Amino acid sequence: MSQPPHAPSLLELYPEETREAAELLKRAIPLMVRHDIPPNPLHYALWYTYSKGSEPELNRRLDQTLKNFESFPPETASRLFRDFIIRGELEEARSGQQQVIELVDDIEGGVARSVLGSQTYQSSLTLGLAALHEPLTDNLPSVLHDLQQSTQHMQEQQEQFLYRLRAAQSEIQQLRSQLERAQLAATLDSLTQVFNRHAFNKLLEQALAANQPGLALVMLDIDHFKQFNDQYGHPLGDRVLQHVAQLMRELLPARAMAARYGGEEFCFILRDCFTLEQAHAFAEQLRLKIQALRIKIRRTDQMLDSITASFGLALAQGGDSPESLITRADDALYQAKHNGRNQVCPTPPDTALIA
Ligand code: GH3
Ligand code: MG
Ligand code: MG
Repeated sequence: MSQPPHAPSLLELYPEETREAAELLKRAIPLMVRHDIPPNPLHYALWYTYSKGSEPELNRRLDQTLKNFESFPPETASRLFRDFIIRGELEEARSGQQQVIELVDDIEGGVARSVLGSQTYQSSLTLGLAALHEPLTDNLPSVLHDLQQSTQHMQEQQEQFLYRLRAAQSEIQQLRSQLERAQLAATLDSLTQVFNRHAFNKLLEQALAANQPGLALVMLDIDHFKQFNDQYGHPLGDRVLQHVAQLMRELLPARAMAARYGGEEFCFILRDCFTLEQAHAFAEQLRLKIQALRIKIRRTDQMLDSITASFGLALAQGGDSPESLITRADDALYQAKHNGRNQVCPTPPDTALIA
């Protein structure tokens, strides 16, 4: 059976120690300088890998491209980057991009050191040249002179390169903030701007794994929401969800997080909440705020009846998995619905674990 494409991790891609990486870098930079290849993250990754020689097919394709084109075509760089560096699917490509950004950050330091190195080299050459009062051989001074000239040339090229690299850094910064924004957007529910179910699952798993006392789960579900939608329409229903989420954000306690669990169900992960009474007081406050919401139909100015919600609570116990904690909070929520809705219920005693 064929394996899915393997998306390599940073360590797999660049397992070299700093010294070895610096050597590869020393080889990659002159190549880029010589062929006037702009210093951007894609090119860095490509030419670093080229110098490493770990992907013979990549080297062959890069050589061929240099032979066929005057300047390096950006679309070829993207294609080679995708085929030889990332090699994975879209999701993995993001982390690949991040890896390259980190690599370039390191590289800038490397280039700066390299420029400094060639400056030192040049001054020692200058000194050496001045110290040669008597030519040892006929042509030694001219050899040294040529060497000095070529070093200076190299230094100028590197300085120029460093300048362009710094310009690329600001692009990288922008790329990084875009990436961060995209990553944040991927964790938020687009309608309500609280965390989505996927992020909630991860955060709950992490919170339980940290095994710190004082973790509680609050689940809430809007009452008779189907009826509301049927009566007033889905767009108004959406506005209600946004208002409820807004209240949730406003009342969010320190270190807590709020999420849309699905449909008209939301939940909170509370920290520093050691008793059901504490969780109850928080949920009750939110219940009253939701009940007090006054929503108007914009078109007709008609005020709607109160919206209400039911709440289930559960405190995390030793040995809880996300599923067991959610089940207890959900059972409590069911109880709140069963008891007549618009109320907060703690975990029913028969399903509570003994700590
Ligand atoms: P209960 O009090 O028992 O919770 O009754 P309910 O009507 O709220 O519960 P039910 O699960 O029967 O219906 C949930 C409704 O929530 C159905 C669906 O139309 C509505 N809903 C789910 N997601 C959205 C959404 O994104 N926007 C809107 N407007 N409505 C939604
Ligand atoms: Mg529901
Ligand atoms: Mg409901």
